[in-house]
Amino acid sequence: MTIIDGKLTAQQLRAEIAAEVAEMVAAGQAAPHLVAILVGNNGASMTYVANKEKMCGECGFRSTVLRMPEETTEEQLLAEVERLNNDPEVDGFIVQLPLPKHIDEQRVIEAISPRKDVDGFTPINVGAMVLGLECFVPATPAGILELLKRYNVPTAGKKCAVIGRSNIVGRPMSILLSQKGWDATVTLCHSRTANLAETVAEADIVIAALGIPGFVKANMVKEGATVIDVGITRVEADNARGWKVVGDVDYAEVAPKCSYITPVPGGVGPMTIISLMKNTLLAAKRRK
Ligand code: NAD
Repeated sequence: MTIIDGKLTAQQLRAEIAAEVAEMVAAGQAAPHLVAILVGNNGASMTYVANKEKMCGECGFRSTVLRMPEETTEEQLLAEVERLNNDPEVDGFIVQLPLPKHIDEQRVIEAISPRKDVDGFTPINVGAMVLGLECFVPATPAGILELLKRYNVPTAGKKCAVIGRSNIVGRPMSILLSQKGWDATVTLCHSRTANLAETVAEADIVIAALGIPGFVKANMVKEGATVIDVGITRVEADNARGWKVVGDVDYAEVAPKCSYITPVPGGVGPMTIISLMKNTLLAAKRRK
């Protein structure tokens, strides 16, 4: 059994990105510039944005966080998005989700220029991804593919079960793995899937992205399978912080059956943020 080390892989990627940025800057080009819009005071969102800002610094990027108050109107946010779309100093930007309830998230996402949509959430980017065209691949699926590639996990002709059909993880993951080059046969499972356990038990690769701690048990996993755990749930714990992060896989009982498995924390999580950096670097390279 091989533990897929997302933390280490993300560090390697960070060094590769930083080296490329240093070359860009030495050649007289501006370093990539990522902007994050943060609306309101959602604690988790503030942490995510702070982590992205820190990672930008470590990659040699310029970064800006635009903090907007909770009572920001949809029109004010759309005006800010439009300003960033047209700002030549900005290579890519993200609008941190979730947005306050009075703002239509979809309308805001659709206003982002696909050229600067480094989250890969706009319909144009999603469409390009589905067609296998040049696009920004959403960060979490991109990070998972990078782990599969770097650990030489075979995917061609393999059966893959993706659990969870969100627009940011499960659905794009299922599409990407079925494409030429990855060549897996994918089943996308969700909350209405009948006989989910049987489907998962047949899979060579299981990708769990549903947000239910310990959902995937040993009896649902085939001997020798690869298990990728996307789940991140905070649960109470008997430690100084009073909480810990757990995944969607019952790691202790599933790991011994696996060829490869990602731990939580230290698996998919660190890869997500570094994949956003990769997309921002790509946006900067396409700048002209
Ligand atoms: P979501 O929360 O938007 O949706 C959950 C999905 O799981 C839905 O498609 C639903 O159909 C499915 N589901 C729910 N209950 C189910 C059941 N009993 N059986 C089968 N399917 C079921 O999904 P999300 O935003 O992709 O988040 C999923 C998990 O991944 C969460 O824990 C989230 O925190 C985590 N996440 C992690 C990262 C990372 O970087 N590691 C990134 C994004 C999300």
